[in-house]
Amino acid sequence: MEERKLPLIAIQRIRMTTDGTGVTTLVCSKGCPLRCRFCLNPSSWDDTKPAEILSVDELYERVKIDNLYFISTGGGLTLGGGEPLLHSAFWKEFMEKYRETNWSFNIETSLNVSREHLDDLIPFINEYIVDVKDMDPERYREYTDGDYDLFFENLMYLKEKVGQEKILLRIPTIPFFHKENEAEESQKKLEKLGFTRFDRFRYINPENRKPISDEAKENREKILGKVRSQF
Ligand code: SF4
Repeated sequence: MEERKLPLIAIQRIRMTTDGTGVTTLVCSKGCPLRCRFCLNPSSWDDTKPAEILSVDELYERVKIDNLYFISTGGGLTLGGGEPLLHSAFWKEFMEKYRETNWSFNIETSLNVSREHLDDLIPFINEYIVDVKDMDPERYREYTDGDYDLFFENLMYLKEKVGQEKILLRIPTIPFFHKENEAEESQKKLEKLGFTRFDRFRYINPENRKPISDEAKENREKILGKVRSQF
């Protein structure tokens, strides 16, 4: 079988109380299906910034240094990006191979991917940290250039499969985009759908960030195609 590879952008160790229980290590991979107007992590999709390519075993060697912290606190790995679900085949192989570590696995995701990516990882993930952006379909599209229906259908599917207790919904207020009441409106809509776990936050002022260019948006399919074919 072809060996799976992960295009790694960064590893952040010894995180506490930011995602999931215990001490966690965030593993950020390249590739994102969205193009948010003020992207928080452009290196995840910028083709000019190379990633480090790791096999399943090579990644394990890099993160096992914190095994004792993970075991003693109930922590483990948090999959981040970009969009880590694009690499679900890699992560599935990793989690199957290292299941006996008893580490927890959390994922930060926009859910803007095809359903099979989600199905790959549902048996392994302890907590889903979902990047909501906005629950108004027009505002969602306006901000992300993404497919609201795909996000929404995946969110409801996930709730049905794993229960809303495992889903933390991150709702941002984004300066220069959101009006003050919009995050509240998104939360109300989600509460009506039966969700109870929210993380409301304000983006760090994106004044100095450049909005994503039209060229970057046009390159999305090319870059995603490359991510899919190489890894
Ligand atoms: S989801 Fe949006 S903010 Fe996050 S990496 Fe993708 S484009 Fe950037």
